[in-house]
Amino acid sequence: MATVGTDVQTRVLAEVESRKDDLLGALSKAVQIESVNPKYPGQVYDEVVGGEGEVSKFVATFYEELGCEIDLFAVEPGRENAVGVWRGSGTGRSLVYNGHVDTVPPGDPANWKSGSPFSGKIDSDRVWGRGSTDMKGGILAQAFAALAIRNAGLRLKGDLILEAEVGEEVMDHECGTTAILKRGYTADAAVVSEPSAPPDALAVVPITPGLWWFSVTVRGKATHASMRGETFRAGGLGPQVGVNAIDKGVFIFQAIRQLEDTWGLTKHHPLFAPGHFTIHPGVLTGGPTGVLVPFVVSEFMTIEYCIWYHPDEKPEDVRKEVEDHVATAARLDPWLREHPPELDWKLNWPASVVDPDHPIVNAVADAHEWAAEGTRFAGRPPIRGFAAVEDTAFLNIGGVPAISYGPGDIRVAHADDEHVLIDELMTATKTYAVLALEWCGFEES
Ligand SMILES: [Zn+2]
Repeated sequence: MATVGTDVQTRVLAEVESRKDDLLGALSKAVQIESVNPKYPGQVYDEVVGGEGEVSKFVATFYEELGCEIDLFAVEPGRENAVGVWRGSGTGRSLVYNGHVDTVPPGDPANWKSGSPFSGKIDSDRVWGRGSTDMKGGILAQAFAALAIRNAGLRLKGDLILEAEVGEEVMDHECGTTAILKRGYTADAAVVSEPSAPPDALAVVPITPGLWWFSVTVRGKATHASMRGETFRAGGLGPQVGVNAIDKGVFIFQAIRQLEDTWGLTKHHPLFAPGHFTIHPGVLTGGPTGVLVPFVVSEFMTIEYCIWYHPDEKPEDVRKEVEDHVATAARLDPWLREHPPELDWKLNWPASVVDPDHPIVNAVADAHEWAAEGTRFAGRPPIRGFAAVEDTAFLNIGGVPAISYGPGDIRVAHADDEHVLIDELMTATKTYAVLALEWCGFEES
């Protein structure tokens, strides 16, 4: 249990409070530095690249103020990661604080009621703008937590490694998190400051699902649209004349939907809401090849799916289950039996699993309890599965037990009018400060 006494806590938490305006100002400024991921779909790389590096350099100024050894390095030009190592006196556990500087695009600015998507506007209770919740607030909270420790006249015993990294929004971990790991920055545990999983603010998140992106394409046979009756009514010439790919695609769509419903009943996890593991049909295209008019019997239909799979399952098993299910469904249809649906497996983001009894989970929960005293977040924080995927997966693969805990809400991340609530930001900052003291150990400096 706690080794951090009340006196020390009070001193450090007072230091966090005393820099509140600086923290909000820094977040506002970081939001104003546009840092849309240049590889995000729809972006022109050369026009967008560079913003991430600018945010990293800005965050590094706080690592510098702390007295860190600074490492600014990029795998691709303009996309610097910032690592700040605050060396401990050598006898404590080490800790990584990690967050990503890239954001998704703002969408249509006209839909933002709060002003420009990159306004960084500070209201009485929140800071607005793309990246405020996901996740510049978290990155700066971690830096300001460390500053509060130093300003309270303390130093840590174990190393604290502060990381602001690029590339997360498109799983470009080879440019970001994994590149940092390969450069030799590891620790006894890591806390990623991703926003919280609904419905709870400031939940402790040791587990994420896995993600698969795949598409299924069904082929038909073109003919004049007036032949539709001939293609499928009793007595017609059937597939000799034509086959509408859209009818066959909807048949496969329904089959996959049935599998998804089965998952809702069969795949459970204590840290996730019932029915969380899903096969989401996100994009549907189809029609004649070349020109999208309804006067030709359609030649193709493609559905793009995003699977959120159970963290205990292997990606190859999930893939095989879906492939087998689609193949079984296709055998029920004479055309699809001869012309099987084509599945294209495009991207796998692995699940991230840390035992909910791991010491870092308890340490974060303890720290939150102290930090949140007297706030609306008071008490033991909930332990939850994350709705989506995040860089904890790659830290874990790299051998660093990584969980997430952070200010913000994934429901406003990637959405219009993204914002982070100031009380969440402040409580998270205090939690990071207490956690570092408790995890790494400390002494008077
Ligand atoms: Zn994020």
